[in-house]
Amino acid sequence: MQKPTTPLDDGMLAHNAAILRARVAEAASRANRDPHDVTIMAVTKTIPLTRILAAVALGFAVVGENRVQEATAKQDELAALASPPAMRWELIGHLQSNKAAVAVARFARIQSVDSLRLAEELARRVAQRAWSPAHTPEDAPGARVGEPLPILLEVNVAGEASKSGLAPDDVIPTARAIAALPQLRPQGLMTVAPLVADAEAARPVFRRLRELRDRLREAVPLGADGGWRDLSMGMTDDYGVAVEEGATILRIGRGLFGARPSA
Ligand SMILES: *Cc1c(COP(=O)(O)O)cnc(C)c1O
Repeated sequence: MQKPTTPLDDGMLAHNAAILRARVAEAASRANRDPHDVTIMAVTKTIPLTRILAAVALGFAVVGENRVQEATAKQDELAALASPPAMRWELIGHLQSNKAAVAVARFARIQSVDSLRLAEELARRVAQRAWSPAHTPEDAPGARVGEPLPILLEVNVAGEASKSGLAPDDVIPTARAIAALPQLRPQGLMTVAPLVADAEAARPVFRRLRELRDRLREAVPLGADGGWRDLSMGMTDDYGVAVEEGATILRIGRGLFGARPSA
């Protein structure tokens, strides 16, 4: 059951957005970073489109969804509006290979590439999409047809059994193989830190992701500056620490929309 949108809800969203932006700016200044180098992605799993549109109106036009099916339903709802706002959809949840074709058509970037096998399947689907004669309107939210699909590699930094992601030791060899696929454009790394009571406890995880990225730049350089720019790390409970450790993308759900209904 979806709660109706009320003016109070919008007020809460604007309030949360202001706090979020202020704290990101503070954390950036502690680390001598430009806050403009940090994108706050709105994580919209379980959030109905009306709420998402309110966030877009506040400037959060980059959204992260965990499940292909849920995102697809919202995108179709969006496309049916008279004047849908411009938005960018990225996938941040585990992707099964059998959904790769849909994911390629529907997401501007896939942050959760966690195996070479998945990367190869995505590459195959990107090539297929470029060759197929007709593109449906549903193709529109995805990466541009005929161009490589932007991706991030997901790393399971803490080696948690419950989480997907590459083991840190596998990142460089996997990245090397992926860099050879012309249909993909690797842009950085993503991680989900362990759930901890104190944000400081997540710092070593974020730091290790950054160090891994720095080694990756040396081992598998992409372009003139080495590439691998993005570090997608930091969620509602630990984003300040993530910014201090170099995050370029924060994935914020509850900090923007409030608590999610428990499943
Ligand atoms: C749900 C989720 C988030 C956002 O979590 P919050 O704690 O609500 O900010 C970020 N990243 C991933 C991969 C998620 O599944």
